[in-house]
This record gives sequence, structure tokens and C-alpha cells, in this order.
Amino acid sequence: MTDGCVFCRIVARESPADIVYEDDEVLAFKDLYPKAPIHYLIVPKRHIESLATVELDDTTILGRCLQIARTLGERAGYAERGYRVSCNTGPEGGQVVYHLHLHFTAGRRR
Ligand code: 5GP
Ligand code: ZN
Repeated sequence: MTDGCVFCRIVARESPADIVYEDDEVLAFKDLYPKAPIHYLIVPKRHIESLATVELDDTTILGRCLQIARTLGERAGYAERGYRVSCNTGPEGGQVVYHLHLHFTAGRRR
């Protein structure tokens, strides 16, 4: 756990979150300020700062996060209609929380 990291605190259950998926390595929960009717954040439990610091060793967990997006899409009933998975990276990429996360949004056409 990385000190002061809001998503590490959620993973450690030190901060509340509305969890929608969990396994040994990945947690997904509802975004506190949703920007679409469905807005989840998919995070590796292990602290990785950003896509900009990803190492070869991190690629398995990243792939797993993407596969969980598929699971969440199916569970939410959006497998056919589709959804968006995005990863804000760095200051100009709009990253605010420096614990790597995928945004999963669905239910809004854009
Ligand atoms: P970023 O801009 O870093 O890609 O996105 C961070 C996201 O985390 C934002 O959409 C923001 O609403 C969400 N967020 C920030 N703090 C919390 C929190 O404590 N709990 C939850 N569930 N979401 C958070
Ligand atoms: Zn963290």
C-alpha cells in the first residue's frame, strides 16, 4: 500500500467504495462522480502509478483489467451496445489519481 493513495486505501478497505467486482489482483468500484449512467473504475490492487510507468511485469495485470471490463460490460447488459474503456495518463492526459485505473463508462452516446 502506498501512503496517501486514495485507491490503495479503497483496496485496503480503509475508505468506502461501492465495489462491483473483486478478485485476488483486481478491484472495480463505482466512480464517486460518475460521468455516464454507468461509470466504474477498474484498478490493479498492487499500486502502479500510471500507464506512463508501466513495466513489462505489469502487462499481465493490465490484460486482466481489460478482460474484467468485458465481464462488467456483460453484467451491466452492455455487451452488444458497447461501452468505453479509457486510461487517463499524466497531467495533460487528465490523470488526477496516480494509481493506474481504467474508466469503464456505458449508457451514454458520444
Ligand atoms: P482520473 O482523472 O485520475 O483518470 O480519474 C480519477 C477518478 O477517480 C475520477 O473520475 C474521480 O471521480 C474518481 N475518484 C476520485 N476519488 C475517488 C474516491 O475516493 N472514490 C471513488 N469511488 N472515486 C473517486
Ligand atoms: Zn495506490
